[in-house]
Amino acid sequence: MGQKEKAFIGLDLGGTFLKYALGTGDGTILHKGKLPSHGSQSADAIFNVMFQAVAELLEKAEKEGVEVGAIGVGSPGAIDFNTGRVLGNTPNLPLWTNADIRGRIQEKYHIPVYADNDANIAILAEARFGAAKGCPNVVGLTLGTGIGGGVVINDQLFRGAGFSGAELGHMTINFQGPKCGCGSSGCVEAYASATAMVRNYKEKLAARHMPLPERLNTELIFAHARSGEEEAMQTIDEVCFYLGVAIGNIINIFNPEIIVIGGGVADAGDAFITRIWQNVDGHVLTAAQSIARLVRAELGNNAGVVGAIALAADSYKAWHM
Ligand SMILES: [Zn+2]
Repeated sequence: MGQKEKAFIGLDLGGTFLKYALGTGDGTILHKGKLPSHGSQSADAIFNVMFQAVAELLEKAEKEGVEVGAIGVGSPGAIDFNTGRVLGNTPNLPLWTNADIRGRIQEKYHIPVYADNDANIAILAEARFGAAKGCPNVVGLTLGTGIGGGVVINDQLFRGAGFSGAELGHMTINFQGPKCGCGSSGCVEAYASATAMVRNYKEKLAARHMPLPERLNTELIFAHARSGEEEAMQTIDEVCFYLGVAIGNIINIFNPEIIVIGGGVADAGDAFITRIWQNVDGHVLTAAQSIARLVRAELGNNAGVVGAIALAADSYKAWHM
């Protein structure tokens, strides 16, 4: 008796912002905030932003009368879950390579720290508290600048032998296709990321000598498609086709109950999801398809911090069972 209720801190690091939140193990957020992450600066500068966020959240925890059991961190790049270190390159945070996330934060606050890849924790959030709540086998795709992937198998995140697993955006769907940023060719990311969609649309407009709109993004393409513009409709048809092929592959490999699509493009609405699902037909084994559902992510911009809180809560439970 006399033990305080446990809460968890979630940090979601991006190239531009650090989002942070204090929440309970059931996914309820008690307090949240956002700071510029200084992603282009030194690792020390980024850690200082994290320290500022943790200090603020610890103060809130004190006021709320809860005790912080663990800190979860989502970061770009491959993250060694066992050591909490960043492996390899992080293009949006050029000086973040090899950062010792666990070591640095634990040293300062003496609270257990767990770190994982940002796409992984976003799908963990959907699996625990969002669109895939209650489903043990979940695959997530986040459509943004690139295409991020995350896989939950039997309620556990799949990380791979070297913490580089679930890079679903780099699934080749046309080996004679365009070069991808990863060095391979014809990855689904090169066809269906927000970046690829905008590029494809621009090419169509240029080919027909049509003027380029000033602020061209996926929202605008969807708006133009709704108003019946042929180039925009074709662009979206193509994205849906390529995503359909990729999701057919995903269903054949993982046999998930549910596939969750997140990122800005997912806000385009259920008609977009239905269209992608129609394109899965003919690219999948029907027995696996009959079990699977394709849905939009529910947690939106909060997925990162909620996922980091879920990671902290899961890891805390695993240690205290
Ligand atoms: Zn690639």
